[in-house]
Amino acid sequence: MNVEQVYKDANALLDGHFLLASGNHSARYLQSAKVLEYPKKAALLTDALAQMIRDAGVEVDTVCAPALGGVLAGYELARSLDVRSIFVEKKEGGMELRRGFEIKKGEKIIICEDIITTGGSALKAAKAIEALGGKVVAFASLANRGFCKRIGSNNTAKPECSLPEDVPLFSLDDFTFEMYAPQDCPLCKEGKSEAIKPGSKS
Ligand code: ZN
Repeated sequence: MNVEQVYKDANALLDGHFLLASGNHSARYLQSAKVLEYPKKAALLTDALAQMIRDAGVEVDTVCAPALGGVLAGYELARSLDVRSIFVEKKEGGMELRRGFEIKKGEKIIICEDIITTGGSALKAAKAIEALGGKVVAFASLANRGFCKRIGSNNTAKPECSLPEDVPLFSLDDFTFEMYAPQDCPLCKEGKSEAIKPGSKS
């Protein structure tokens, strides 16, 4: 599967001149929710992800996603793995399990996101699960922004990655884009366009 092409076809991978939340500029932007608009396409992605997890021999009882971003990917991955799907939600300083969801002591859980950037939310989800006695056996995401090292990639983890090194990360592909400080941005220097905020209504 050409994962990048799937994202492009879904208009989830944008080319242009973007102003990121960090204040930096970039020529590419991943609008990760767009690739999940069509459930059947989403299922193709999570089927491929599930196969990677099975091939690695990782046993999973339950998929847990950090809300809101990870919920759809986590639900579809649970379907692909034929296991249970739950999610955790934000609370002050972390994440927690609500809505009557329960986990058993020693339950093998994979934390699933749509996209892993530095892995901050995934780590908070993992801590919430471990505090309840669950065992986090892996992290998973459809896309990896290249800060953390996924299984099968030659990239190395960057200091920004907050995921533990001893737990595998399964992800379909690396989407590593260059980011520029505004004063160093080559697109600004060309002078043909202004950086726009992706996802804004204008
Ligand atoms: Zn720029």
